[in-house]
Amino acid sequence: MLLSQLFSPTLRETPAEAEVVSHQLLLRAGFIRKSSSGVYTYLPLAQRVLTKISAIIRREMDRAGGQEILMPIMQPAELWRESGRWDVYGRELMRLKDRHDRDFCLGPTHEELMADLIRGEVYSWRQLPLLLYQIQDKFRDERRPRFGLMRGREFIMKDLYSFDRDEAGLDISYQKMYDAYTAVFTACGLDFRPVEADSGAIGGNSSHEFMVMAESGEAEIVHCPQCRYAANVEIAKCPVPSSARAEMAGTPGADAARDALAETVGADSAGAGVPAMEKTATPGWKTIAQVAEGLGAAPSRCVKTLFYTVSFAEGQRLVCALVRGDREVNEIKLQNMLGALQVELAGAGEVAAAAGCEPGFVGPVGLRETVTVYADYEVAALDWAVTGANEPDFHYKYVRPGRDFRAEYGDLRTLEAGEPCPECGAALLGARGIEVGQVFKIGTKYSNALDATYLDEGGKEQPIVMGSYGIGVSRTMAASVEQNHDGDGIIWPARIAPFHCVVVPVQASGPVFEAACEIHRALEEAGVETVLDDRDERAGVKFKDADLIGFPIRVTVGKKYTESGQVEFRLRKDKQVELLTAEACVRRAASMVSEA
Ligand code: ATP
Ligand code: MG
Repeated sequence: MLLSQLFSPTLRETPAEAEVVSHQLLLRAGFIRKSSSGVYTYLPLAQRVLTKISAIIRREMDRAGGQEILMPIMQPAELWRESGRWDVYGRELMRLKDRHDRDFCLGPTHEELMADLIRGEVYSWRQLPLLLYQIQDKFRDERRPRFGLMRGREFIMKDLYSFDRDEAGLDISYQKMYDAYTAVFTACGLDFRPVEADSGAIGGNSSHEFMVMAESGEAEIVHCPQCRYAANVEIAKCPVPSSARAEMAGTPGADAARDALAETVGADSAGAGVPAMEKTATPGWKTIAQVAEGLGAAPSRCVKTLFYTVSFAEGQRLVCALVRGDREVNEIKLQNMLGALQVELAGAGEVAAAAGCEPGFVGPVGLRETVTVYADYEVAALDWAVTGANEPDFHYKYVRPGRDFRAEYGDLRTLEAGEPCPECGAALLGARGIEVGQVFKIGTKYSNALDATYLDEGGKEQPIVMGSYGIGVSRTMAASVEQNHDGDGIIWPARIAPFHCVVVPVQASGPVFEAACEIHRALEEAGVETVLDDRDERAGVKFKDADLIGFPIRVTVGKKYTESGQVEFRLRKDKQVELLTAEACVRRAASMVSEA
């Protein structure tokens, strides 16, 4: 390939709209161009990387027993109505109508279509297990498309679905996919970590996300330096406090403590030694920090009171959530505890209607009866607390959970780095990650809804047990750039690089240029995908572009070649330079490529 012919328009300036490195570099180095918000064209260099990532994925899916198919992107609404997701998927679903006014959507994922295919074709236990996958554009009208390919509205996904006879079969398929994902991301040269995850809108009861470790990642994870525990903080379980009150109930184990807490707190316990609630002036003190300082109480003694609008299929409801002042409400846990479709912070007006006062001075005491209060276990462990008094410029002291307000208790806060590992007790570490893949044990949610069954060996009808497994192909390309770059540009791992090598002649004609053409040919023949920079540019410009695009190997043919027959062999990764004969250079490059 000649660089003069390659359609890879580079940019000198970093585009203003690009916040993260992968977005900046993929634009600057001429890999992608934006079409509309969250929708991109993949130019030749990007298309080559995507083809390579897809090839790695295909190999591992096939090895695990997967068979590739290609389903329509356009899906009829009837299937989504059957599964119940037409109404619950919300605004992320791209909907359209055909000329007959029939509803369709552009697939954000394919559980419905797959279950529909299977219910028509699979009828016997002999046909199971079955693993079907595809690599295809998916559509999600994301609330905040951003970071370039990272969170697009149209993006490339590999999705595989497993169909098994029972849970034991699903366990095997799930493990196969878990191992295949590990192989895929290892082959892509990524530093990644599987973590326990929430099942979200897909449904099911067990899930892992594959996280590429990167500061720019949108996901927050905790992991243990001593054991294998790692989880997305969305679901990482918090320890139930072994508080005085739980101990009082004589319950050492966490589950027992949880039950005991619920009972103790619900049953208006004695509250021995805690004075009656006392209203205190807190003029203009709206934040936990101000109240804590003003009243001389620890933030952990203050209660953070938040109101959420919670959506269910039947409608919306306002709820109140409490955590200790030094903690954060975990909205995913709240949503899961309530079995809700969505939770969103309520507006000031709704809060005022429920509490009689605007945020800043609200609390759980004396709320309108229709508002259920949900509180984190740690709140239950407080013998008394400071809460808002639902009156501007006032708080209560000596509020005793159970005595002064009622709540339903659960694990509602976000686990933080430094807290003990739920498996082994070591202090957890925090990190950020980019979710490049997720595996779900779905079970029979879709088979039941769509009536996908098979006849077992005894001739009895059984629901097919499903799993669902996605990899963001375009996001994986961006994640690789997030992890592999420096101040000069991208550093592609050889396995997924658009080309392995660039040959740079320092002159655009004459013997040096001819030698470069010869080496270019020899490299191509040896199986090294190579670009010849045949442009009439200064060597410095060519070097800059080579580093920006990120070819793993650069071969420079200069005047030395005419003197000693030697060329410069340089690795993008460590910028080490070696002088080699043309033949040795070709051999070295070929062996690097075959080992990659
Ligand atoms: P996220 O939490 O990042 O929104 P998700 O959990 O909704 O992702 P899944 O339904 O698990 O995504 O989809 C499978 C994979 O598809 C994800 O692991 C991710 O790599 C990729 N993916 C999901 N949404 C997007 C998007 N908007 N742009 C690019 N890739 C995406
Ligand atoms: Mg996911």
